[in-house]
Amino acid sequence: MSSHISQKHPRGLYVLFFAEMWERFSYYGMRAILLLFLLDSARGGPGLPAAEGAAVYGLYTASVYLLTLPGGWIADNILGQKKAIWYGGIIIMLGHVILAIPSGTGVFLLGLTTVAVGTGLLKPNISSIVGELYPEGGARRDAAFSIFYMGINLGSLLGIFIVGYLGQKISWHLGFGAAAIGMLLGLIVFRIGGARHLKGLGEVPLATVSTPESVAQGNSNKKLGYVLIAAVVALLVGLQLGGIIDFTTAQGLAQGAGVIIVIISVSYFLFILILGGLTPVEKKRVLVLIILFIAAALFWSGYEQAGSSLQIFAERHTERTVAGWEVPSSWFQNFQPTFVLIFAPILASLWIWLSSRSLNPSIPVKFALGLILLGLSFFVMVWASDVAITGKLASPFFLTFTYFLHTIGELCLSPVGLSSYTKLAPKRYVSQLMGIWFVAASLGNLIAGLFAGNFDEGNILQMPALFNQVAIFTTAFGLLLLVFWKPVKNWMGGIH
Ligand code: GLN
Repeated sequence: MSSHISQKHPRGLYVLFFAEMWERFSYYGMRAILLLFLLDSARGGPGLPAAEGAAVYGLYTASVYLLTLPGGWIADNILGQKKAIWYGGIIIMLGHVILAIPSGTGVFLLGLTTVAVGTGLLKPNISSIVGELYPEGGARRDAAFSIFYMGINLGSLLGIFIVGYLGQKISWHLGFGAAAIGMLLGLIVFRIGGARHLKGLGEVPLATVSTPESVAQGNSNKKLGYVLIAAVVALLVGLQLGGIIDFTTAQGLAQGAGVIIVIISVSYFLFILILGGLTPVEKKRVLVLIILFIAAALFWSGYEQAGSSLQIFAERHTERTVAGWEVPSSWFQNFQPTFVLIFAPILASLWIWLSSRSLNPSIPVKFALGLILLGLSFFVMVWASDVAITGKLASPFFLTFTYFLHTIGELCLSPVGLSSYTKLAPKRYVSQLMGIWFVAASLGNLIAGLFAGNFDEGNILQMPALFNQVAIFTTAFGLLLLVFWKPVKNWMGGIH
């Protein structure tokens, strides 16, 4: 792939690269300091208890990915992708302006919601325009996506550095506000560059032309939708009345969101399997997508702890003074994008080299590797927390090595997952299933947040056991997938 990277690409790709870079600056910048801010009471933060702060963090990061579903729908049906990106960027910028105001919880939550809504509108549509720049598909398109993935990680790196530094060393709100300036730059380039280099792309909504059959189908789908919404509401009311979930707390809301996300995913998969009019081959491929969905949700639930439990570990239990200067704890999150930038081309070349010898691991094997590497990284954290509970600060190498394993795992699973969803999805369901891929990330983020709720200062002795749970669970699922990779591969029906 590295040889394709050097070939000439349309200028439009770099316009999209630049806009997405600043959107990711916003997202990862928030991820860097959000939980620290929520738990802080000494520097003007709200001082929430661990369980509540971690739940708000989980709700925010999960919403960003979940809102890509309506974001994609609005572009397809109302705005077209270009306008969706433009308005999305403006909304993100406004959100950061609101967050820059040091004010009460209400204003803060308004800012957070605004950023999440804008990101939902921008993120899915910018990725699909990248695809549209290369209608011929093939290796050039893959290369474009790897350049785009570099933009994502460059934005992430800058966001964590700048927002992390400003937030932790100067003022939380200055950190929150920084992304407004970045997003403004992204918007200016998108407006001027887009008019020149993205002509004719994403201008009109792509909604399918309606036929009598599609209208009838749509009506019966609507009825099913109403029944589902009524069932979910009844379930949530039951959970509240039965005292199982308390929706008046952030933790309860996050648990409720988890229930909703699981129901949406299960119903959607059942819907296309049973009523989607699929051929037997397509049904088997959807079964593979379900397995990949579960694996991806599990993977992100560990990986995204970078902003939750691992962030807490960096802050409270890691040695991070260098030459008398205390490195901001959020900077540890930078290992993920840095390792992506270093290892993405290397892994891409490795897959190409292995393919040329017909040894390229199949999709389920790469997913299994991703999970096993993630599992191993948490065994490293068990070791690190064994040090921390003796009262000593753990060496920074523990987190560095953990993030190295995370990133190699990410590179086995994330780009492969994105492309396998486009390849395995029955044609007419591609964009919906792309949305479901982001739902896996949403669920993973929510779990990462809820899990970190256990990382209370009074609960330190539990740390090794908590990390051990993640390690065992993810490694076991990875090994299971590794054992059964052949039947899963056969269900893919000839797609690699
Ligand atoms: N790191 C990638 C991004 O931020 C992928 C994230 C995901 O799909 N969960 O876009």
